[in-house]
Amino acid sequence: MRIDAHQHFWVYDQSEYAWIDDSMASLRRDFLPNDLKIELESKGFQGSVAVQARQTLEETRWLLELATDASFILGVVGWVDLRSSNVRSQLEAFAGNPKLVGIRHIVQSEPNDRFLLQPEFLRGISLLEEFDLAYDLLIYPKHLPVAAEFVRRFPRQRFVLDHLAKPPIKSGSLRPWERGMRELGTIPNVFCKLSGLVTEADWRNWKPEHIAPYMDVAFETFGPRRLMIGSDWPVCTLAASYTRAIDLVESYLSQHATEVQEAALGENAQQFWKLGTRQKQLPGDSQHTVANGKGKREGDAAHASRRGCARNEK
Ligand SMILES: [Zn+2]
Repeated sequence: MRIDAHQHFWVYDQSEYAWIDDSMASLRRDFLPNDLKIELESKGFQGSVAVQARQTLEETRWLLELATDASFILGVVGWVDLRSSNVRSQLEAFAGNPKLVGIRHIVQSEPNDRFLLQPEFLRGISLLEEFDLAYDLLIYPKHLPVAAEFVRRFPRQRFVLDHLAKPPIKSGSLRPWERGMRELGTIPNVFCKLSGLVTEADWRNWKPEHIAPYMDVAFETFGPRRLMIGSDWPVCTLAASYTRAIDLVESYLSQHATEVQEAALGENAQQFWKLGTRQKQLPGDSQHTVANGKGKREGDAAHASRRGCARNEK
């Protein structure tokens, strides 16, 4: 199964998407499942993972609603306030929905370069394993050493690095980004998305050979079982059509064996987030949720998650 491991949806609103500046004016419109479906089908993808773009609980709820209506959205990486003292109840509110597969915080925009290591944030992350949720790292190269220190504290938590930590493709330099990548890649519970690369290059003049050296480092560091393709649609359209953004990674992968290609084009994402397998747990889990209603006890999510793990651990 081919899966696009990273895409976004939005109903454009200037105040909620203030990061879309004048240089990105073409993104100032709605991007919804029907728009993506055409692109996915054109490249032979059967599913996608929708990633949060707003830091609100409403964003998580809305993406899960879209995923309920559009079966090709196999998973949602949502947002909860990981620093909040009531993060547990925020997570519990979504625990009955098997399509919530991960959480992301827009760490790249935080003024504190050591944001990941704040005690409140660490406390929030420490709950994710219990809810069987992965965590998406959205960071810049300067954060890589801190990220390595951060993930080492959670050896059983699944992490995935977005966009190779946004390497300086436009300038063509590899260091110190490469050093940080090689350190993070030694930690086995961290995966990496081959995504968001065209927008780190010169939007108008990039060529595959400008980007290949960065994918080489990702490959050498994370190996074929911890990489997954993602379009970063619609953001990618600033620098390439959906087809061109996908072709870049797909043709890079074509130098490798078929098994390696299939792994990076979908299998790794499927296994990392347990996509589809989680869906099979739906009937039992939803009955459970209905029976317990809103007063669902804390232990239930942990129980469900352990049950899921045991089933999927082959
Ligand atoms: Zn993105």
